[in-house]
Amino acid sequence: MSSVSPTPAGPALALQAGRAPLKPLDQALAELLNCAALLPGFETVSTFDADGRVLVQDLVSSLDVPAHDNSSMDGYAVRIADVSADAVLQVNQRIPAGSSGQFLVPGSAARIFTGAPIPPGADAVVMQEDCEVVDSGVRIKAQPQLGQWIRRRGEDVASGAVVLRRGERLTPASLGLAASIGFDKLQVAPRVRVALFSTGDELVMPGEVAPADMKPGAIYNSNRFFLRALLLRLGCTVTDLGIVPDRLDATIAALQGASEQHDLILTSGGVSVGEEDHIKPAVQALGELALWQIAMKPGKPFAYGKIAGSHFIGLPGNPVSSFVTFLVLVRPFLLKLQGAVETAIRPTSAVAHFNWPKADKRREFLRVRRNAAGGLELFSNQSSGVLTSAVWGDGVIDNPAGQTIAHGDVVQFIPFSALMS
Ligand code: AMP
Ligand code: MG
Repeated sequence: MSSVSPTPAGPALALQAGRAPLKPLDQALAELLNCAALLPGFETVSTFDADGRVLVQDLVSSLDVPAHDNSSMDGYAVRIADVSADAVLQVNQRIPAGSSGQFLVPGSAARIFTGAPIPPGADAVVMQEDCEVVDSGVRIKAQPQLGQWIRRRGEDVASGAVVLRRGERLTPASLGLAASIGFDKLQVAPRVRVALFSTGDELVMPGEVAPADMKPGAIYNSNRFFLRALLLRLGCTVTDLGIVPDRLDATIAALQGASEQHDLILTSGGVSVGEEDHIKPAVQALGELALWQIAMKPGKPFAYGKIAGSHFIGLPGNPVSSFVTFLVLVRPFLLKLQGAVETAIRPTSAVAHFNWPKADKRREFLRVRRNAAGGLELFSNQSSGVLTSAVWGDGVIDNPAGQTIAHGDVVQFIPFSALMS
């Protein structure tokens, strides 16, 4: 079969012939995301364990946060009308956090601590640094403003408000916010079950062959390590199927086995159309495949397909191509499978501290890092095989096709920290 349209809304993904024009990255991403329907079902997890998961429910608050007007300082709650220059007020109540006070009798002050409810009648708090304890009470040394150091009821969350929405990806701060309105459990999308394998007869595993014993032409499998780590960071459960030999029967067997219990089969290598590249015929034997040449660098060859109920994504073999296409295409795909509303990363503007005089006809993702002067420096070797660039760099410049860069130009920067969580 030569096209895939797994969602009714999704456009058919036409198989690109060998010399078809390159597909713009935005178009490839849009088509890919169109195929990523929300996984069925949900999990109920402890709020403690929900970091990074995607909510499938709206969280509506049944209370005001804070629930009472309360003090944001250790000090004295007063009525401002009672305070004149160097007024001394009687202190006849003490309100620590977790307790509540009595009506504040005119002419008196209440000793109060951070977080304690403001007693009825009080309209300001004077911080203890502006007070002096004297025998008869407390001397207020600074005239307070109305409402000073009072945190208002509901100023964080109003009762009835939707605090977090379906499709939001939970962060440490959102777990705290969910807890602040009483949620100890949250309904989240299921984890994406991913089967991962590498193709390539040249690949060997560190630990299995010592560097000194490497045969000519052999290389260590690096993609397996970063792809697995990236998937785990995105909360996927990973079945690591290791290295599959460059043979059609072996590739078919691996794909068929993986398709049963996984939402996504992710492979690296073998997506070009050389005779050693068996991904294309293997996926086509079992399901449907679209093989794209994407106008991006590093990157370009990329495969998307369906095998039984499972999605299939084939990444290029060159390590940096594999790495960047994962970040730019697979990451949003995984988020969309979980129903995440936000899948895109917004780049920030930054200043290039280098020259890039040769424009490329493909959109480039240049490995760069921030320097102490607040600019971006370019790694000297941008080859798609040089993984050092992705370690040295702390992000990429998203450089449009046909664009040169001169020292001082404003460019679009995406930090790896944003792309890897
Ligand atoms: P391929 O896409 O299979 O033609 O591979 C392109 C290049 O990437 C070749 O130089 C491969 O040796 C290399 N490569 C493929 N898979 C891996 C991997 N898992 N780790 C490191 N390099 C790889
Ligand atoms: Mg290969």
